[in-house]
Amino acid sequence: MKLLLHICCAPCSIACIASLRAEGIEPTGFWYNPNIHPLTEYRARRDTLVAYASQIHLALEMQDEYGLRPFVCAVADDIAARCLTCYAARLRETARYAAAHGFTHFTSTLLISPYQNHELLVAAAEQAAMEFGVAFWYRDFRPVFREGQAQARALGLYMQKYCGCVFSEEERYSKRFRSKAHKGAAEQTPPTPHGAADVRQAHDAAMQGLRQAGLRFEAVRGAARDAAADPSARDPVPAPPVTDA
Ligand code: SF4
Repeated sequence: MKLLLHICCAPCSIACIASLRAEGIEPTGFWYNPNIHPLTEYRARRDTLVAYASQIHLALEMQDEYGLRPFVCAVADDIAARCLTCYAARLRETARYAAAHGFTHFTSTLLISPYQNHELLVAAAEQAAMEFGVAFWYRDFRPVFREGQAQARALGLYMQKYCGCVFSEEERYSKRFRSKAHKGAAEQTPPTPHGAADVRQAHDAAMQGLRQAGLRFEAVRGAARDAAADPSARDPVPAPPVTDA
């Protein structure tokens, strides 16, 4: 087996990597998280992972894209349902990369978090696996979440205070949203259907929704890349001068 492990952040990766290694699997880490904003936060999480991977001798592949514009454009029409697009975008890119680089399986550290919508994540991974022809290696890492976080604190790793996007940052710090954090993600789980035909129909609808969300993100991402490559293209949001790459 050749396993590509999508990593959302170093603290969540600790227990996932340890439990995979305990199974005799040596994963290759994969960084692709266009949902982390603002740029200083993105760099803090990315750089923490790069340093930690080197420390534990983990091979790491980087898709280093700060995705504020494409992410916000892709979710703007339905901010409450943004986690569906976020999961689809990250897991589709992981599956695509795995298939293109000779990996037989992929999985994600997102599966360790008790704060994410686990069922929706699994559906997004299954949809991506089907589309890109690479197997999804499912593991429920949630039982070792606390243990991993405690190790991260003991190691002095940077610990983020919110999920990733600007909307989750607002939910974390605004009283108005505090009781509703991740309500959007929780509401995106398809209702439990009754009967074989309903199960099949609900499954197909969920897969189709995830695929469309992923394609929508990829279209916006492609347009953002084209605009960046064409200096004559107008950016609707003027960017401040960049002094630090
Ligand atoms: S809350 Fe977290 S999972 Fe949901 S869209 Fe934002 S970064 Fe992604």
